[in-house]
Amino acid sequence: MKLATKLIHGGPTVDQQTGALGVPIYQISTYRQTSVDHFSKYDYARGDNPTREALEDTIAVLEGGTRCLAFASGMAAISTTLMIFSPGDHLVVCDDVYGGAYRVLSTIFSRMGILSTFVDATNLAAIEAAVRPETKGIYLETPSNPLLKVTDLRGAAAIARRHGIISLVDNTFMTPYLQRPLELDCDIVLHSGTKFINGHSDVLCGFAVVRDTELGRRIRYIQNAFGTGLGPQDSFLTLRGVKTLKVRMDQSQQNTLKIVAWLKQHPRVTAIHYPGLPEHPGHVIHNSQADGPGAVFSFELDSYETTKRLLENSHLAAFAVSLGGVESIISYPAKMSHAALPKEERERKGITDTLVRLSVGLEDPDDLIADLQQAIG
Ligand SMILES: *Cc1c(COP(=O)(O)O)cnc(C)c1O
Repeated sequence: MKLATKLIHGGPTVDQQTGALGVPIYQISTYRQTSVDHFSKYDYARGDNPTREALEDTIAVLEGGTRCLAFASGMAAISTTLMIFSPGDHLVVCDDVYGGAYRVLSTIFSRMGILSTFVDATNLAAIEAAVRPETKGIYLETPSNPLLKVTDLRGAAAIARRHGIISLVDNTFMTPYLQRPLELDCDIVLHSGTKFINGHSDVLCGFAVVRDTELGRRIRYIQNAFGTGLGPQDSFLTLRGVKTLKVRMDQSQQNTLKIVAWLKQHPRVTAIHYPGLPEHPGHVIHNSQADGPGAVFSFELDSYETTKRLLENSHLAAFAVSLGGVESIISYPAKMSHAALPKEERERKGITDTLVRLSVGLEDPDDLIADLQQAIG
């Protein structure tokens, strides 16, 4: 079955009770038992809920995993999954990891004795050099945020195999439609389903997907123990959202290519970071591991005045955090995702005061270009 078909038919598609073409919202917390000796599969909704399960089964199929667990947010998925590690364990993490992941690693997991070393993951030698005897995991994101830096996932997975440690990949920017890290021999795929997977900017959700059943059992144990699973209403909305993932990604990506081509010849645009461009340093590696460059990119403008004018005068692309919705979203990493970093540290990472990130939605690309044109001036 190809992915477009899996999106529609990959998970449970029919309600067994009624034949309804979809799994209903089981807005219920507990289940009646009939035997004192054998409780049925469902007993309490922190552990199991049929609507959540339908979503989990669908995402597991899309990523090529044996098991997916759905969480109340991307950060709930990431934090719960990181609880498989123990005090004394060490992690190697890409240095431009999502801000929320950086925060839990550097302020919470560090306090519990799980330490991280942040490295430039575009360089496999830097990953390997950071591995210590107590290293238990390599945590990656590719393309990264906001500079769209690319990590060689096959190479990183091979390093993890060689050292007998776990590789984790946040696949939010790509979605399983464009990139499937488990097929490249990575161990755990993480998602903020809030973004492209749900795609309508109306739900927070997250996923952890694995091939190894024992790893799945361990994450599931913590999900139930912590109570970080996704609620039934949000599971239903995400199930509905994901069905159109292919058509949304295809159109958003096509729009992105058109906008990038237009920005490239704009005199006020000084650089564009997008793995779809042949001159992008990660272009070849990205094409070897993903089926498309996606619908998020960042670019630099000639001055702070131009940047401010663009952000404040863009009418179609909303000036907001987040990405991956049907509507275009323009964001300002220096004051949004990376505001917590000191200015020098930020600039050293390339996150300047003239960098903006665009998540391209489903509007007509000509309208988006006209709007950007009037805003940039
Ligand atoms: C948004 C995001 C997250 C966090 O997800 P939430 O659903 O907001 O908790 C994690 N990783 C990436 C790459 C993201 O864009």
